[in-house]
Amino acid sequence: MSYFLFALTLLFVIFAIFLLRRSAQQKRESGLPLGRVVYSDTENWTRAEKPLFDPLLQLTGKPDYLVEQRGTIIPVEVKSALSPALPHPGHVFQLAVYCLLVERSTGKRPPYGLLRYANRTLQIDYTAQLENQLLDLLAEIRSKERSGELERSHDEKARCQRCGYRSICPQRL
Ligand code: SF4
Repeated sequence: MSYFLFALTLLFVIFAIFLLRRSAQQKRESGLPLGRVVYSDTENWTRAEKPLFDPLLQLTGKPDYLVEQRGTIIPVEVKSALSPALPHPGHVFQLAVYCLLVERSTGKRPPYGLLRYANRTLQIDYTAQLENQLLDLLAEIRSKERSGELERSHDEKARCQRCGYRSICPQRL
């Protein structure tokens, strides 16, 4: 490899590291839990049969699986993609919705939920801070919906089905 090509490659690598660090810092500053990689035995995972519903918030959602751990129900969301360096905020909020719905329907607060990607499973703590961020986001969505500011920009059902905000989006297809 010529010196010029080597220098160019090095520059790209440094730039990529810079972008990754900046994205990690932005996510850390968002206050969202970063998740811990955990081993999870899928044998006792049960498919959620029907959606969970909270009449107070008029919120519904269906986790992929529910798993009972020491008397508490833990929601699991499965993503077919490889895990990003840090979990996508949309995925974290989706899991937070399920944690909230589990708590409202069982009376027991799950301390965390599981995000299972193709290559690893992340444990996302369901903290009071995450719950508050979720409630703020829901209030913002509702307010934008009322004022007519919330307009879907496409008619692609498949896009909505892949979207991390699907469980809380009133415009989903
Ligand atoms: S679910 Fe909502 S936010 Fe997601 S793509 Fe569909 S309309 Fe957009």
